[in-house]
Amino acid sequence: ASIKTGWNFDNSYARLPEYFYHRQNPVPVHSPKLVILNEQLAASLGLDAKALKSEESVEVFAGNRIPEGAAPLAQAYAGHQFGHFTMLGDGRAVLLGEQIDPEGNRFDIQLKGSGRTPFSRGGDGRAALGPMLREYIISEAMHALGIPTTRSLAVVTTGETIIRETELPGAILTRVASSHIRVGTFQYAAAWGKDEEIKALADYTIKRHYPDIEIDDDRYRTLLRDVIKRQAALIAKWMHTGFIHGVMNTDNMAISGETIDYGPCAFMDTYDPATVFSSIDREGRYAYGNQPIIGGWNLARFAETLIPLLHEDEEKAVEIAQEEISGYMGIYQTHWLSGMRAKLGITTEEQEDQALIEDLLNMMQKHRADFTNTFRALTYDKPEDTAMKGIKSFDDWYAKWKARLDRQKGTKESAQQLMRNSNPSVIPRNHRVEEALKAAVEQSDFSVMEKLVDVLSKPYAYTPEQEEYCKPPEPTNLPYRTFC
Ligand code: AMP
Ligand code: MG
Ligand code: MG
Repeated sequence: ASIKTGWNFDNSYARLPEYFYHRQNPVPVHSPKLVILNEQLAASLGLDAKALKSEESVEVFAGNRIPEGAAPLAQAYAGHQFGHFTMLGDGRAVLLGEQIDPEGNRFDIQLKGSGRTPFSRGGDGRAALGPMLREYIISEAMHALGIPTTRSLAVVTTGETIIRETELPGAILTRVASSHIRVGTFQYAAAWGKDEEIKALADYTIKRHYPDIEIDDDRYRTLLRDVIKRQAALIAKWMHTGFIHGVMNTDNMAISGETIDYGPCAFMDTYDPATVFSSIDREGRYAYGNQPIIGGWNLARFAETLIPLLHEDEEKAVEIAQEEISGYMGIYQTHWLSGMRAKLGITTEEQEDQALIEDLLNMMQKHRADFTNTFRALTYDKPEDTAMKGIKSFDDWYAKWKARLDRQKGTKESAQQLMRNSNPSVIPRNHRVEEALKAAVEQSDFSVMEKLVDVLSKPYAYTPEQEEYCKPPEPTNLPYRTFC
């Protein structure tokens, strides 16, 4: 059966010291049912979509059956949650193993919502259908937007009810990731492990995610620098698309540079750097505009864990860590600026570009402009479709922008093409996501979600059929709130 399905597991994480995990199987569920399968992702992993829909495979997605070659485990980790350090770990997830795809690439296959583990603390180890479908929709939308992310292979319902504020249908998400190594995994090793364990984790991480630096004389420093680079690039992409992660705890920052843990995340409609959707983020620690700074804070926590590896002399090691960390904001700014230039069709560099961009953002904030649709309107060259239409300062800005584009070589068409490729016309709008989840959870109607997932798979297509999905929500006095 495994030949037909295409599972091809290796278990390199299970070869790390046992310190890093607890071997265990998922906890079986009552009566699983497949509700969505990502056929394209399946194919790219070397899996047969048809075989994955069989009863046997659904039992795999549910954790009732362990596929051949898998060595399931729950990972240990720690993390700063809203600034407070604590011991964590997979409290409701199990890593089945690593699928080796036909090209030899390695992907974690993790079941999320798979039952209690030694790291569950007070939790039930389970997940509700709504949030698992939410992760599916948004992670796949992120992928289509060109933003590094974990992905979603399948969601099954468990046939069991879970208890939150109300009774909810239980579900399990099959998550696919380059790995699940987090800043928090390093924090766990640094807080309670020996130097050998930190080294084992760092060497494993280098081999898996940064193989080019294995031969580097100063490879731990280079690891730190490369992780900083990937996070700076990632967070810049979040900022370019209006994505708000919502819970940037250090256990939710992946060393691979992928976006991970879709809990209270959401995309911003109206542009405002203070935007917060998460119901538990009362102080706005993880607000849209704070994300770059929090990224740097998390990376500083990562740097601290590497101190024993950076230099024999601790003082010198701290100096090295600080030097690398101090480079983060500049790297981030460079990514941010180049992405924002692209959003405006700018292909060259001028000193005043930053001010031009900031002037636009300030006007957008003042006039409560929709983030995505403003750039979409500029892409279509329809300034009259923005919230700033008829406003003198905006007309002046628009003339300045046009003059800026005239100063660069290249055709108007190529500038517009760059804008099209840099400004999504559709994003997972909160009201659309809620509508899809409501139909799925309350009516077992998955067609709304399937249609949404399909539309979101071509965010830069600018097709007429997408128009409906471009509309911002109806104005309301109630702020949108997410829960995790
Ligand atoms: P998160 O805020 O999603 O990063 O989750 C923080 C930690 O809580 C992670 O280690 C999760 O595995 C754990 N966790 C979340 N929900 C549950 C649950 N229902 N049961 C057990 N552990 C959970
Ligand atoms: Mg998490
Ligand atoms: Mg979570």
